[in-house]
Amino acid sequence: MTRQVLILGAGLAGLAAAGPLAARGFHVRLVESRNRTGGRASSFTDATTGQLIDACQHVSMGCCTNFAHFCAQAGIAHLVAPQRRLYFMTPDGRVSSFGADPLPAPLHLTRSFLTAHYLTFAEKTAIARGLAALRFTSSEDDRPFRDWLIQHRQPPRTVDRFWGLVLVSALNEEADRIGLKYARKVFVDGFLKHPRGFQVEVPTVPLGQLYGAELDAWLARNRITLSLNQAVRRIEVRDQRVACIELRSGEQVSPDWVISALPFQRLLELLPEVVIEQHACFANLRHLQTSPITSVHLWYDRPICRWPHLVLIDGLGQWLFQRGETAPGEHYIQIVVSASRRFRGLGHEEVQRRIVAELRSLLGHSAQLLRARVVTEHQATFSVVPGVDRWRPSQKTPIANLFLAGDWTATGWPATMESAVRSGYLAAEELLAQTGHPVRLLQPDL
Ligand SMILES: Cc1cc2nc3c(=O)[nH]c(=O)nc-3n(C[C@H](O)[C@H](O)[C@H](O)COP(=O)(O)OP(=O)(O)OC[C@H]3O[C@@H](n4cnc5c(N)ncnc54)[C@H](O)[C@@H]3O)c2cc1C
Repeated sequence: MTRQVLILGAGLAGLAAAGPLAARGFHVRLVESRNRTGGRASSFTDATTGQLIDACQHVSMGCCTNFAHFCAQAGIAHLVAPQRRLYFMTPDGRVSSFGADPLPAPLHLTRSFLTAHYLTFAEKTAIARGLAALRFTSSEDDRPFRDWLIQHRQPPRTVDRFWGLVLVSALNEEADRIGLKYARKVFVDGFLKHPRGFQVEVPTVPLGQLYGAELDAWLARNRITLSLNQAVRRIEVRDQRVACIELRSGEQVSPDWVISALPFQRLLELLPEVVIEQHACFANLRHLQTSPITSVHLWYDRPICRWPHLVLIDGLGQWLFQRGETAPGEHYIQIVVSASRRFRGLGHEEVQRRIVAELRSLLGHSAQLLRARVVTEHQATFSVVPGVDRWRPSQKTPIANLFLAGDWTATGWPATMESAVRSGYLAAEELLAQTGHPVRLLQPDL
């Protein structure tokens, strides 16, 4: 008898859960409310050129081993390019580049760090002292990171130009709002543990293609049924089991197992209130907070930047990504601003004006801006505030045939594509264990 698994949501978590189950003979159906897969890692179609444009640039890092495994399994790993150097620019236009030397971690980045022009020797000494202390801090200590910075006497400029600079992009949150646990994870996993951990990886095709057409062959090979434009309307629970999933089309499905890979806000809307009240793992989701990300898309009549990307120190923009000539005579640049609460109430035109002015002053270019678009994702990711893990549920739930996936579940990672893939693998592991086929899907760290 075929065993039916219904996966709700075809973001990375849902896709990652689908693969290993389908490969083990389960009949897997993914139901997705939108007309595309990939969830938050998505593109939109540019009305002017008809091209796919990423709603926001997504990058991975060398330490994201499960994401890398998913890409390899799905046959898309060749479409993600590692950046061997990182470029940092200060408002005076000076650039320092960061690259690994052939030395064991954590010495691999020492030379780049010592030659960085945007930190004084005293600041570098304070940071080195801080990094050494961080390494020996318990990985479970999740007090406010700002308290830790004070305790370890980190000067304010090291927070602006190092700690906060790295963390705001990695965690999508301001340094004074986050907990120590995930701050530590970023620096230890990303910079101190392995020479490849810090390496930023950038997709070479739009996300809409990477997690769209490029996955067709993998979905077909694994016989995964994909139902797009099929929103879940209701999750019916009876006797502590999911009895039925009702879709907005009216279709009712009663699968053997359900994996919810929905955003946590949506799950709270779809589960019966009585079930939420009965089980802390669902009720706790109401404590999760979110943080916004803004991306500014700019098309110029000529190239304005000679670096593939830039981390902008003391800038309004945080990362600049150079996407090249995407249409004849159109050179596309994307600026990303994480934890973009400071833009609240400004309006997109004003945000665009400020970013455009900043780029002119920084890069000293005289190119003409042809088009622009500002996109803000207000609930981009959950916030890694101190103690956040007590609100994140495990993939196994008290509802016997319901499992959870999503970057917000208990993965030990902040809200990233890596966390989404981990959650999918963990949900599949739980389901397989329940059916008497325990298997380890989670990939080892670097
Ligand atoms: C602007 C932005 C920038 C980011 N940058 C990065 C980055 O650089 N690097 C990184 O690693 N991560 C980044 N992230 C985070 C990353 O996108 C997420 O962690 C990851 O995509 C989450 O995947 P998921 O499958 O858990 O959730 P989602 O992608 O949210 O998937 C949930 C799916 O459920 C579907 N759904 C919702 N309601 C229903 C319903 N009723 N019925 C059926 N389906 C439904 C949704 O349409 C969606 O496809 C960024 C996120 C944003 C928003």
